Amino acid sequence: MPLRVAGALILVGIVILVTNPSWGLIPSFLLIVIGLVFGIMTLLGKGAAPRGSGMGPTKACPGCRSRNPMGAAACRHCGYRYAQP
Ligand SMILES: [Zn+2]
Repeated sequence: MPLRVAGALILVGIVILVTNPSWGLIPSFLLIVIGLVFGIMTLLGKGAAPRGSGMGPTKACPGCRSRNPMGAAACRHCGYRYAQP
C-alpha cells in the first residue's frame, strides 16, 4: 500500500473524529490505527526491498542485451529462452 493512502486514512479518521465526535469515535479510531499500521508496514517494506527503478529485479538477455524480469522464462524482445534451474 502506498504511503499516501495510509496518510489519507489517518487524515480521514481525524476529520471524522473532529466533525462527528459522537458516532465517529470508533470508526475514526479504527481508520487512524489502520493508517498507522499500513504506514509503518510500508516504511519497513521499503527498507527491506531491493533497490531499483520500481520494476523489480531484472536480468540481461544474452541474445539481445535487453532487460527482462528475473522470473522470465524467455526474452520478451528476441525470444531467447533462459535455462531453467
Ligand atoms: Zn533478448
